[in-house]
Amino acid sequence: RAKRRGKRQYVVFDAALDDELRARRAVESELSDALAGGQLRVHYQPVVDLTAGRVVGAEALLRWQHPVRGLLGPDEFLPLAEDTGAIVELGRWVLDQACAQAALWRAQRPGVTVAVNVSPRQLGRGDVALAVEESLERHGLDPGGLRIEVTESALTESSSARSELWEIDASGVPVGIDDFGTGYASLSYLRQLPVGFIKIDRSFVADMVSDPDQHAIVASVTSLALALGIGVVAEGVETGAQAEALVALGCTTAQGFLYARPMPAEELALLSPGRVGARAGS
Ligand code: C2E
Ligand code: MG
Ligand code: MG
Ligand code: MG
Repeated sequence: RAKRRGKRQYVVFDAALDDELRARRAVESELSDALAGGQLRVHYQPVVDLTAGRVVGAEALLRWQHPVRGLLGPDEFLPLAEDTGAIVELGRWVLDQACAQAALWRAQRPGVTVAVNVSPRQLGRGDVALAVEESLERHGLDPGGLRIEVTESALTESSSARSELWEIDASGVPVGIDDFGTGYASLSYLRQLPVGFIKIDRSFVADMVSDPDQHAIVASVTSLALALGIGVVAEGVETGAQAEALVALGCTTAQGFLYARPMPAEELALLSPGRVGARAGS
């Protein structure tokens, strides 16, 4: 397209493209150095049973301990990793770390589960389904000890992405919809796809106590999940009032800063419920 606009614009376009490519390659190599150099970390945020008041699992969340920029959250590097394709390798690594950790925790408390996020860009080539099976086997992890979280965009992405979700489900690993209600997926996906659980996006939880509309959304998503017989997890619980409102609606599983922030596995005393409420971590 640039060529048709004449030689001068072609040169400008080319130079910009060149810069972009250079920046991209720099981050790409920085990221693969990060993986090789042990700069990546998996932090874990406890998932809590509100009625029993105990930790029932954790969500694996990727961090980059950058030598210059400090501890980076996924928002600061995952989009680039998705663009360059580095996400495939990173994703495989996170999955393997999470499975190793889950196997350790389950040896001490059999019921706990670890959830791993998978972005739309990772799906559709069979990479994730394969990596799931390899990691389960490598760490002797029961498939029920792992969970995969995808956003609604992954459901609409492609039919190959959807069939990969079926493959993951077939291996016994529950697949759930993350940030439920923020995407464009239709409710029919709940019946067409192997949805084992729903995570109510924290934007709805945030105002559910003060805003009747948000409360109504949380209430209907919860009863929908209960009626379908699938799991429901509230994200981003920050206050006791939110926790009480959730329990009143029948949503008894939650994550949020009220209980704990994401933190290194060794800091997360998953085995002692007394640690729930700690605010250490990222
Ligand atoms: P997510 O899967 O929805 O994860 C929940 C995010 O909410 C996490 O942000 C967590 O730190 C944050 N959070 C938890 N409780 C609270 C709370 O009470 N209040 C507030 N304000 N925030 C809370 P984080 O770790 O920055 O991750 C952001 C997103 O990056 C994740 O959203 C997930 O979509 C993605 N992500 C994280 N790790 C991975 C990964 O290993 N692979 C892929 N593909 N995506 C990942
Ligand atoms: Mg998630
Ligand atoms: Mg989420
Ligand atoms: Mg989110």
